[in-house]
Amino acid sequence: MAEGGNLDPYFRGRTPEWIVQQAEKFYVSLSMPALPKSFWDKSDLYALPAGATRKKNTHASAWHIDRGKDVRSLMSVVPASSWFETTHHELGHVYYYIAYSNESVPPVLREGANRAFHEAVGDLISIAARQEPYLRQVGILPASAKLDPMQYLLEEAFATVVFLPWSAGTMTHL
Ligand SMILES: [Zn+2]
Repeated sequence: MAEGGNLDPYFRGRTPEWIVQQAEKFYVSLSMPALPKSFWDKSDLYALPAGATRKKNTHASAWHIDRGKDVRSLMSVVPASSWFETTHHELGHVYYYIAYSNESVPPVLREGANRAFHEAVGDLISIAARQEPYLRQVGILPASAKLDPMQYLLEEAFATVVFLPWSAGTMTHL
């Protein structure tokens, strides 16, 4: 049983690769395409190993390089619930890029309705990614796991409320 609303213990034994692949499966289950091979080849998705000689920004981000199919993400995924949600969020940006990058949309119009809408797409899916039925379906929560609804909702409220000033205040000025 996890302490309070902390779901990290359930992610022990999962690989970072599994987390990103599961997020892709979420979108594929919504009839979106598999991610292009270049996403996997050119993204920087996983935490650096100890002793690495380079550094990278620890804040997750998603990039639309060419207003076409060159989509990438910078993350430092480790097996933890926060990265499970963040990966679903970042792939929301990536799939939004892919959705409007087609022949019917002129390159000059290939961007989100506005920054807030882009964040809303990502956050909608990250909220979906922490729903109990989904966590049970993908095998994160075992049948024996019982979540304390009050702790779980408090955790969710804190995560959302704390993120609001960032998403509504900072992101709109970038
Ligand atoms: Zn975002």
